[in-house]
Amino acid sequence: AKALGQGAQQWYSHDIGEESRAHIRLLHGLHQAFERNQLFLAFQPQVSLESGRAVGVEALLRWRREDGSFVPPDQFIPVAERSGLIVALGTWVLQTALAARARLAEAGHGDVRMAINVSPVQLRDPAYLEALDALLARSPIAPGRLEFEITESVAVMGVARASGLLAGIKARGIELAIDDFGTGFSSLSYLDKLPVDRLKIDRSFVGQLDSADSGGRIAEMIVPLGQCLGMGVVAEGVETPEQAERLRALGCKEVQGYLYARPMPFEELLGWLQTRKEM
Ligand code: C2E
Ligand code: CA
Ligand code: CA
Ligand code: CA
Repeated sequence: AKALGQGAQQWYSHDIGEESRAHIRLLHGLHQAFERNQLFLAFQPQVSLESGRAVGVEALLRWRREDGSFVPPDQFIPVAERSGLIVALGTWVLQTALAARARLAEAGHGDVRMAINVSPVQLRDPAYLEALDALLARSPIAPGRLEFEITESVAVMGVARASGLLAGIKARGIELAIDDFGTGFSSLSYLDKLPVDRLKIDRSFVGQLDSADSGGRIAEMIVPLGQCLGMGVVAEGVETPEQAERLRALGCKEVQGYLYARPMPFEELLGWLQTRKEM
C-alpha cells in the first residue's frame, strides 16, 4: 500500500467553507485516483535549437478520471501541496520517472536528460535528502541524466538553507533548473548563491516574444542573464516559429513547447525520439 502524507488527515478538520468543500472533493478524488493507479506521467521533449534533437524530456503528472476527462495539474497540485499528499505523489513521480529514464537508456536515448518537477513542500521535509537516497538506492542505476525543476520559492526557506539543500541534491549527481523563472521572488542576490545549472524562462514571457509587450523584453533579458551566470537557459511554452527565431537570435539554446511536441505518453515519446534521431 502507498504511504499517504499525514497532513491529509489534518486538512480534513479545517473549518469548511464552500471553497474548502470543493478542495476536499478534489483531494478525496486524488487520493482515490492515486490508489487506483489512475495517475500517469506524460513526457514533453526539450529540444536543442541547433540540432533539432531532444536534449531532455520533462515528466508531467496526469490524472485521468474514470469518465476519460483530465483534471489539470494546476488544479490538483496545489491541493496536494496543502494536504501533504504531494510528498507521497512526489515519491511516486520520482520512481516512475527513474523507471522511464532507465527504459530510455535501453532504447538508446541514455543521453536525454529526465527533468522532474519537485514541489517546495517536498523540500521542506528535513529528512528530504535521506528519503532521496533511499529512493535512488532502490532504483536500478541507469546511464542518463536526471534534473529537478524547482521554483524560486525554494529561497523562502532562507538562502543559506536552500543552497545547502540544493548542493546536497547536486552532490547526488542530479542537475537543477529554476522553473518559471521571473515569475516568483526573483532576486539576483540569491540566484548567484544557488548551485543551479539552468533557468527556465516562464511561458508567460515567451508568449509575448512576438509582440512589443514588456514580457517579451523580460524573456530577452533572461537569456544573457543565464549566460552571464554560467547557466543554461530553456525557453518553455514556445508555440510559434517567430518565437523560436527570436530565441535563437538571442542565443537561447534549448526550447520546449507545442511547436515541437505536446506532453505525450511514454510509448509515444519513444517513437518521437526515434523519428527525430533519424532526421
Ligand atoms: P510547469 O512545470 O511550468 O510545466 C509546464 C506546463 O506548460 C505544462 O503544463 C505543459 O503541458 C505546459 N506547456 C508546455 N508547452 C506549452 C506550450 O507551448 N503552450 C502552452 N500553453 N503550455 C505548454 P501542465 O502539464 O498542465 O502542468 C502544469 C503545472 O503543474 C506544471 O507547470 C507544474 O508546476 C505542475 N506539475 C505538473 N506535474 C508535476 C509533478 O509531477 N510534480 C509537481 N510538483 N508539479 C507538477
Ligand atoms: Ca516544470
Ligand atoms: Ca515552468
Ligand atoms: Ca508553471
